Amino acid sequence: MLKLPGLIDPHVHLREPGAIHKEDWDTGTCAALAGGVTMVLAMPNTQPPIFDEETLDIALGAAHQQARCDYAQYLGAGPDNADIVPALAHKAAGLKMYLDSTFGELRLDDMTLWKPHFEKYPMEYPIVVHAESRSMAAAILFSAMYDRPVHIAHISLKEEVLLIKAAKERGIKVTCEVCPHHLFLTSPLHKGEGPGVRAESPSPTPPLFSEKMGEDVRRTGGGRSEVRPRLATQKDVDALWENLNVIDCFATDHAPHTIEEKDSANPPPGFPGLETLLPLLLTAVAGRRLNLDDIIQKSVINPRRIFNLSEQPETWIEVDENAKFEIKAQNQFTRCGWTPFEGWKVKGKVRKVVLRGKTAFEDGKILVEKGYGQNVRA
Ligand SMILES: [Zn+2]
Repeated sequence: MLKLPGLIDPHVHLREPGAIHKEDWDTGTCAALAGGVTMVLAMPNTQPPIFDEETLDIALGAAHQQARCDYAQYLGAGPDNADIVPALAHKAAGLKMYLDSTFGELRLDDMTLWKPHFEKYPMEYPIVVHAESRSMAAAILFSAMYDRPVHIAHISLKEEVLLIKAAKERGIKVTCEVCPHHLFLTSPLHKGEGPGVRAESPSPTPPLFSEKMGEDVRRTGGGRSEVRPRLATQKDVDALWENLNVIDCFATDHAPHTIEEKDSANPPPGFPGLETLLPLLLTAVAGRRLNLDDIIQKSVINPRRIFNLSEQPETWIEVDENAKFEIKAQNQFTRCGWTPFEGWKVKGKVRKVVLRGKTAFEDGKILVEKGYGQNVRA
């Protein structure tokens, strides 16, 4: 049995308040524990979005009642809340700025709206940006201009990882994360999409998952492959693997939508990911594409440093690194009822999770009550 520290996921969407038919603080944190994740940082694009004291208290109230693992809640940057969020910074995971289009209402289209947030949000708390491609380059420029740390969420493209590499070499305080789906899935056939379309051809499959790579999303059609940033090409996936040393964190961007929504005419973007993160990474370790130290660095040590999180005492996970199993949505705790990795054969199973001295998960069962999770910013 392999013993690892509890993982930190700096990017999850738990859908509460507002869309608890997809997920809530209870089911989402059960999924976290089952995946070996003992701390989650929750994104603010809920309904209502979390952008002031009142909405922050709504989210934290729900979390306080329901969360089973530790957590913090992000604030969202809006066009007119730059003056009020700094006073809330100590209660929040960080400030999330949506600089590109994604799911939800929070979005800052105009760079003049970015400026007051960069000027006013306290330096010691992180700013996280959803910024793809050239928007990402603009966010890095802001990091340089204001000489402050900026964390880039879910990078997916070769041009992105290479630009971050160059920015880091020049001393710019930029960090970044990558999601498993951008490391293990390539774009399915996408035809006739608008701006931002990434790949027009089916991609060859990397050796580790040769039979399964991407086939499920491809077979099930458009809706289930919708995610932002979109799945990219093999060239992009290869560049992420080749430049793993540039990438600071693994993050799931756990973004559950129900299977009915994903298969509808208007599928919302997003994948669940909390329960597949570690098995996928451990399978990559078995395939020698990664080592255990990479997992500890990118899922524990670096997120702790970047997001200024304190250590969780008496917290660890036990993993059977030789256990092989097939990923099945029906075995998951997430409410959404599907996974883009359905049917994948992986190696490495979470057996036990101990959180602050208490066994929180063991052999498929959640053993802590709702409300056991603590707000790490309280
Ligand atoms: Zn997200």
